[in-house]
Amino acid sequence: MPAYEIEHHTYDVVVVGAGGSGLRATLGMAEQGLKTACVTKVFPTRSHTVAAQGGIAASLSNMGPDHWQWHMYDTVKGSDWLGDTDAMEYLAREAPKAVYELEHYGVPFSRTEEGKIYQRPFGGHTTEFGEGPPVQRTCAAADRTGHAMLHTLYGQSLKQKAQFYIEYFATDLIMSEDGQCQGVLAWKLDDGTLHAFNAKMVVLATGGYGRAYFSATSAHTCTGDGNGMVARAGLPLQDMEFVQFHPTGIYGAGCLITEGARGEGGYLTNSEGERFMERYAPTYKDLASRDVVSRCMTMEIREGRGVGANKDHIHLHLNHLPPETLNLRLPGISESAKIFAGVDVTKEPIPVLPTVHYNMGGIPTNYWGEVLDADAENPDRIAPGLMAVGEAACASVHGANRLGSNSLIDLVVFGRAAAIRAGQVVDPEAPNPVLNQASLDKAVERFDQFRNAAGAVPTADLRLEMQTTMQADAAVFRTDKTLAEGCQKMEAVAGRMADIKVSDRSLIWNSDLMETLELDNLMPNAMATIVSAEARKESRGAHAHEDYPDRDDKTWRKHSLAWVDGAKVRLDYRPVHTEPLTTKDEGGIDPKRIAPKARVY
Ligand SMILES: Cc1cc2nc3c(=O)[nH]c(=O)nc-3n(C[C@H](O)[C@H](O)[C@H](O)COP(=O)(O)OP(=O)(O)OC[C@H]3O[C@@H](n4cnc5c(N)ncnc54)[C@H](O)[C@@H]3O)c2cc1C
Repeated sequence: MPAYEIEHHTYDVVVVGAGGSGLRATLGMAEQGLKTACVTKVFPTRSHTVAAQGGIAASLSNMGPDHWQWHMYDTVKGSDWLGDTDAMEYLAREAPKAVYELEHYGVPFSRTEEGKIYQRPFGGHTTEFGEGPPVQRTCAAADRTGHAMLHTLYGQSLKQKAQFYIEYFATDLIMSEDGQCQGVLAWKLDDGTLHAFNAKMVVLATGGYGRAYFSATSAHTCTGDGNGMVARAGLPLQDMEFVQFHPTGIYGAGCLITEGARGEGGYLTNSEGERFMERYAPTYKDLASRDVVSRCMTMEIREGRGVGANKDHIHLHLNHLPPETLNLRLPGISESAKIFAGVDVTKEPIPVLPTVHYNMGGIPTNYWGEVLDADAENPDRIAPGLMAVGEAACASVHGANRLGSNSLIDLVVFGRAAAIRAGQVVDPEAPNPVLNQASLDKAVERFDQFRNAAGAVPTADLRLEMQTTMQADAAVFRTDKTLAEGCQKMEAVAGRMADIKVSDRSLIWNSDLMETLELDNLMPNAMATIVSAEARKESRGAHAHEDYPDRDDKTWRKHSLAWVDGAKVRLDYRPVHTEPLTTKDEGGIDPKRIAPKARVY
């Protein structure tokens, strides 16, 4: 291996990722007086959080009666009873505080007549423990909530003198012999230098892994890098089989076409021009729930009635609607269809496909963001020196299914919690750990191997194989047969990483190498997802299994854990936390309220 010169940096805390969760953690750590660095592969305000439009859930009661206990109940039910009850209580209780803090930091929320934060209704958010009417709980800054949050949090972090390392790609965790995280290795993309960050606490805030699939609403940068680093460090990933799909992503590009398009009268057709949803859901038709519509579309494609040359997608028609309606109600969608599908919605249908929207699974943590190594004897044991927040983490508040607007609140509640915890456990006066040279060498060696990879398979080809396999066999339609076949195919695909070919050997703006490192991170995410899905013989939340249509709490109300080593996956399980943080006498929720029952809306 040629010698790489490595620049060393020493901090109390290093946060990897500058999306909503990474920035909230960075800001909080810096406010605590901890010397904090934030390392990010894209400019902070370009993180995928910027695309979040709908808003952020908190029971502020600005538009009518609401209560944190109602929010907690909705989250428990939304999770299909797989979320950890203590974490879900923490989320719902702390949500109003976290939103008011955002307001005071300067997020330009939309306002009511009286000047309060405006809140809109969102799916699954109700009053009276699911028995009252829908609630207006989702706080919004017009349709740019994530955008507003990122700009505010970035500005505040700079004000607190957090140090930013922008367009630095973190490749691996540096771990001590006895499993303590000591820092990360990063590659500076614009000048090719390598940097070792030594830290008393590393926080992974690297976002989701939507790009393991062919069609995803998430940015191309959502490649599950933190999850990949954790898997390589010998730590588990949790509940990876739970992947949320949205019915209408634009075919190919994956950009979201909002549910509002069907709300305004849009409908889906197959290759025979049939409005097939009338057959599956005679009452609600195209407006049945997201998972149902996604499943029906997938069945049509599987049965050979997809549209296009490869019969692999579906048409969404808006062309029967008056052009004035399209102009008034769906201007953004009309524009997206033009740019990303080349379609004039007043004349032609939009090609669409059920599209990965969110990853419920990720790095297991407690509600302080501390990563769990899920030791066989002690499933809640903490992996020292390591935290995870945001979509990369699994706290777990979304369980088997996330409610809309509950991700943005997860980012700030747990970003903030991680900072509060770090304030307690990180001593600014203590010396930094001495970096384990063997671990650092291993990370540099892996980087060098990929840089010089001279196999036969170009990265883009293998990535496409992974994405199409996951889209076909680990998507919405799941049976014993498709999952077993998918596991076999994915094992072969992951095995071919050893034969990868990188053509560009340079170190500066080498997108070929960066995409290869990202692919090597996506692989363990894909493997953990499909193997955990194959093993789970029930239907729960986003995991709808044709051969086991019912939820089975007796056997399966437990978290899946997957340890991934190359193409091999070892599974185990950890119990769901079923106890709330506070008792009824202390003002907490009545446990009877949140006992498992059928999830009907
Ligand atoms: C189109 C769309 C709309 C959505 N709308 C909503 C909504 O309205 N409400 C809601 O609650 N949720 C919504 N969601 C979900 C929510 O936006 C995401 O779950 C959330 O923004 C993820 O934030 P994050 O902080 O975890 O990561 P991200 O915002 O994805 O940021 C990841 C960060 O990690 C960095 N990073 C990653 N890998 C590396 C590496 N190797 N080295 C260095 N840095 C790295 C990146 O540079 C980036 O800064 C939406 C999602 C999408 C895709």
